Amino acid sequence: MFQIMDGKAVSLQIKDELANEVRGYVARGLRPPHLAAILVGDDGASQTYVANKEKSAHEVGFVSSVYRYSANTEEEELLRVIDFLNNDDEIDGFIVQLPLPKHINEQNIINAISPAKDVDGFTAISTGRFVIGDERAFLPATPMGIVNLLQRYKIETDGKHCVVVGRSNIVGKPAALLMARNSKEANCTVTICHSHTANLAEITRQADILIVAIGKPEFITADMVKEGAVLVDVGIHRIPDETKKSGFHLCGDVKHSEVDEHCSYVTPVPGGVGPLTIVSLLQNTLKAYKQRFNL
Ligand code: NDP
Repeated sequence: MFQIMDGKAVSLQIKDELANEVRGYVARGLRPPHLAAILVGDDGASQTYVANKEKSAHEVGFVSSVYRYSANTEEEELLRVIDFLNNDDEIDGFIVQLPLPKHINEQNIINAISPAKDVDGFTAISTGRFVIGDERAFLPATPMGIVNLLQRYKIETDGKHCVVVGRSNIVGKPAALLMARNSKEANCTVTICHSHTANLAEITRQADILIVAIGKPEFITADMVKEGAVLVDVGIHRIPDETKKSGFHLCGDVKHSEVDEHCSYVTPVPGGVGPLTIVSLLQNTLKAYKQRFNL
């Protein structure tokens, strides 16, 4: 029997811990932490993600604000907003919700964020700090959430073979680096796979821990997974579904109906990695706040 790694439950636990800590600081007369988000355009999924981040921030006692811009906003205008947020002492950290409209250069925007407020951990400086193990680094939220989840479920990682499928800057690459760190929460031997990997199934079948971030619905099937593997499904997709009131259902990058029974631990979709991603953002914001006030 496999065990579900319940991201929702773990996220509630961590939120409780964060809320407690924030209450302590406020009781000492400090202002609460403040997380801001920039949202450009009217993409439905992005709006939902930002609304969830705002709700979670409020739940742990943070102040939260959202700066909304239309899809035809110019890059220069966004850079001015970022400059304003970088210099606003009332804001501890902020994110730019991705993806941005095509006419905007995402890297230009991301790298304009002050490293001290980069709570998504996406800037080149944050990435560099993370790679060399600088303690000031904000870890990218999704990989950090994965590590948190594995730790809370006491998954043995030391010496294990972790296969990461996907090499994006926000998930695959940093997840692989985190799992390979010289740390008691990591110390895995890591293999990174991508769209040019030959004999993918042969490699994924060697994984003690399989982290999947491909962006293709139900791509990983039972023949690609070793018996007893720990499976982390990062993918999330809205599949049109007339039987649902919302008009869609959610699924991951893994065909859970056939894969789960072969695993020891599995993250569900939804309710697995997603809630932990938001919690990591809150943890990073609290870290930025503590760095600001030398707490
Ligand atoms: P990207 O599209 O940026 O990256 C996908 C990666 O998968 C690429 O490295 C690509 O390889 C690789 N890939 C694509 N097809 C194959 C294939 N056939 N075989 C092997 N590798 C393949 O996606 P993201 O990393 O941004 O996101 C991945 C998934 O995770 C998405 O479903 C996304 O929605 C979800 N997500 C969920 C989050 C959460 O909080 N739950 C947060 C962030 C993302 P190559 O580099 O060669 O193109």
